[in-house]
Amino acid sequence: MFILVKDIVKIMSEMAPARLAEDWDNVGLQVGRCEKEVRVILCALDFSAEVLEQAAQLHADIIVTHHPAIFHGIKKLTDLDWRTALLLEAARQDIAVFSAHTNLDSVAGGVNDVLATLLELENVNGFSGDDTLEGIGRIGVLKQPMDITAFAEKVKSVLKLNHVTVIPADRPVHKVAVCGGSGMDFLDCAAEAGADTYVTGDVKYHDAQDAKGKHINLIDATHQGTELPVVNELADRLALRLSREGYTAKVLVAKETKLMQIV
Ligand SMILES: [Zn+2]
Repeated sequence: MFILVKDIVKIMSEMAPARLAEDWDNVGLQVGRCEKEVRVILCALDFSAEVLEQAAQLHADIIVTHHPAIFHGIKKLTDLDWRTALLLEAARQDIAVFSAHTNLDSVAGGVNDVLATLLELENVNGFSGDDTLEGIGRIGVLKQPMDITAFAEKVKSVLKLNHVTVIPADRPVHKVAVCGGSGMDFLDCAAEAGADTYVTGDVKYHDAQDAKGKHINLIDATHQGTELPVVNELADRLALRLSREGYTAKVLVAKETKLMQIV
């Protein structure tokens, strides 16, 4: 059975409901025609030039991303700016784009549950205070406490990273909070929830000082590094859901290069 863009929008909005997105976010169908037939779906972290190129090569009809393809308001749709040039090119090639951002961070089985699972955390909860799984960030405990160096090695290995940045707080790692992407705004929430260790990305110098002052081990596993794992999970879940409902569309995962490289 063939599937239309609007059916994918419906399925995705069940998998990552828009009500879970932050107010400032821009989630949902970003580019495309609702009635377009879809044979190939390409899942990616970002709507980037390399992803759009792969979509064209793979004859994808829709790209499903985590980061919104359109975030700030657009007043012109031309090729004079690289972002709008990409949107224009997607529209020209009739490739739709759908994005699930902070709703995918928060939803059960989303970005942060994938991180918690990879790090083998147990008794996992949200850390926004209401103990539900529907809030940004997760907190859980390791089966055995370990020192920060061993834990950093674990983070590197499960996220397939060559390096992470560690701000040690001279205490063992046991209760770990995670927030994929850019999570330093939630350091205090993590601390209040009793985390001794926080794993996120986009840590600035003064953020690091703050964590050190609050005696929380901090690991910056990079924005991209903490969010890439959800893409495979999303593709698997989407493929399962489509086949269960009798749709024949193929779900593929884009190959995305590390944006920021250590030399
Ligand atoms: Zn992100």
